[in-house]
Amino acid sequence: IMIIAIDGTASSGKSTISRELGKKLNISVLGTGSIYRAITLKVLNFNIRPYDDIRIKQMLETTIIESEFINGKTHIVIDGISQDLASLNSHEVSKLVPYISAKPFVREYVRNIQRTQASKHKDIIVEGRDIGSVVFPNADIKLFIDADEKTRAKRRKANYDQQGLNMPLNEVLKEIHERDEQDRTRSLSPLIMTSDAIIIDTSSLTIEESVNEIIKIINDKIQSK
Ligand code: C5P
Repeated sequence: IMIIAIDGTASSGKSTISRELGKKLNISVLGTGSIYRAITLKVLNFNIRPYDDIRIKQMLETTIIESEFINGKTHIVIDGISQDLASLNSHEVSKLVPYISAKPFVREYVRNIQRTQASKHKDIIVEGRDIGSVVFPNADIKLFIDADEKTRAKRRKANYDQQGLNMPLNEVLKEIHERDEQDRTRSLSPLIMTSDAIIIDTSSLTIEESVNEIIKIINDKIQSK
């Protein structure tokens, strides 16, 4: 059994790297950000006020979120309906998600999904913000993916451009900066790098280069066991 924990900042390339790594190693990937995004999307769709904890709790009681990894692709299913990635990664969801994910009852809800999903697999790559620190502190390999802020903003902007949302770079930069700040400073499960994590700075690396570097790290680790 091997658990690979991948944490990191917003738009650092974590999810793409995890996905490609999973394909190359033929290991399942559980992306946890999309679960928080799915909850946030449902809050928005149901017109629930983000601070209305009572209604969000009620909503979660009847919400079933499944995260499935089929043929190298993650599918998020909310209450039986498969979601398209564009709505999960939209600007509206990105802006609200750190606020929703800071709620203790939301984290507890997601923790249950993570445990159930992970227990179905022998080896798994789990990607998020608190995987190496809180969810799987005993993970075999812990990676922390980062890149300088400007690079990350450019990547996200390219993503938004593709979706037809033309946001100026400095606004995207602000959004990313604020999201990281919120994730870092929340009291419960903040985004931190544990002392046993290996940093991968993807500022000047392509996805392929990042993945190859990680595979080297994993092989070294396996050999030294
Ligand atoms: O990785 P992604 O950008 O999709 O994550 C969206 C948000 O979900 C993060 O900004 C964070 O607020 C929350 N998150 C979290 N813990 C995780 C994964 C994501 O709080 N393990």
